[in-house]
Amino acid sequence: SADLAMYHSKERGRDQLYFFEQQMQHKLRQRQQLERELKTALLEQQFILHYQVKVDAKGKVAGYEALIRWQHPEQGLLSPNVFIPLAESSGLIIDIGLWVLKTACLQIKKLTQEGLSIPIAVNVSELQLGQQDFVDVVKQVITATGIKPTLLELELTESMLHHDLARTRQTLISLSTLGVTFSLDDFGTGYSSLSYLKNLPISVLKIDRSFVKEFLNETTDHAIVSTIIGMAESLKLAVVAEGVENEEQFQALNAMGCSLFQGYLFGKPAPIKN
Ligand code: C2E
Ligand code: MG
Ligand code: MG
Ligand code: MG
Repeated sequence: SADLAMYHSKERGRDQLYFFEQQMQHKLRQRQQLERELKTALLEQQFILHYQVKVDAKGKVAGYEALIRWQHPEQGLLSPNVFIPLAESSGLIIDIGLWVLKTACLQIKKLTQEGLSIPIAVNVSELQLGQQDFVDVVKQVITATGIKPTLLELELTESMLHHDLARTRQTLISLSTLGVTFSLDDFGTGYSSLSYLKNLPISVLKIDRSFVKEFLNETTDHAIVSTIIGMAESLKLAVVAEGVENEEQFQALNAMGCSLFQGYLFGKPAPIKN
């Protein structure tokens, strides 16, 4: 009967392995399906931009961040966390990113026409930034929409800067000469190198939400948040706290010298009505 138990456990093991393989297969097929659908999503105009407000210490609107969503015909509104990695690995991010840039610049133009000079930030992927003609692409969109370049902010992450630092530097300098500004998104989570801050025309640090979440209770997070704010101050950079969800966090960050705030406390990402 010990043999029998062994036999059963082996059989169960095989069943579990089979089940696991089936699940992997299923996930893979689902991903391939989503990637095929992603290819037509642009043509079918299934993307939309939501905008999340950034406020200053007084709670006054200081800007917006454009965040993409996919209005999927069967699955409803999909989060960028679901499809941006797929768009990146398939290269579709180049076209999707261009659509985001154009749409956000059209929004800046609309706001300007209403008399509102409010900057909008656009998230840029590594693949986009690495395009040979990225500077020209951005210039063309700015010219075509006729917006003030200073109203366009590009959000980069630390991890996309180190590959070809010399070229990245040229790209950022060319665009910042026009007036475009740059911020470092999710700051503190990537390969931070302080030399980026010295050598690149970056004007804003965005403290990652993971540090803001529990900084009131976690001494390590508190130290990190306070260090980033202090560093930004010394380097004369603006600093945005991401993911501010309650008044206590806002008050404490304000007292620590944080200059800008973003999070559900001030507004969830939503379409701009106009
Ligand atoms: P991100 O750029 O760091 O954007 C902030 C994310 O945090 C957004 O998620 C936003 O909805 C969420 N968030 C903001 N405030 C709060 C808060 O108080 N609490 C909580 N729990 N969450 C908050 P979302 O819109 O799902 O975007 C996720 C990520 O997808 C973005 O992170 C960005 O990296 C990427 N992404 C979004 N749109 C684009 C795009 O157009 N192009 C590229 N390349 N990436 C994009
Ligand atoms: Mg961002
Ligand atoms: Mg962010
Ligand atoms: Mg983030």
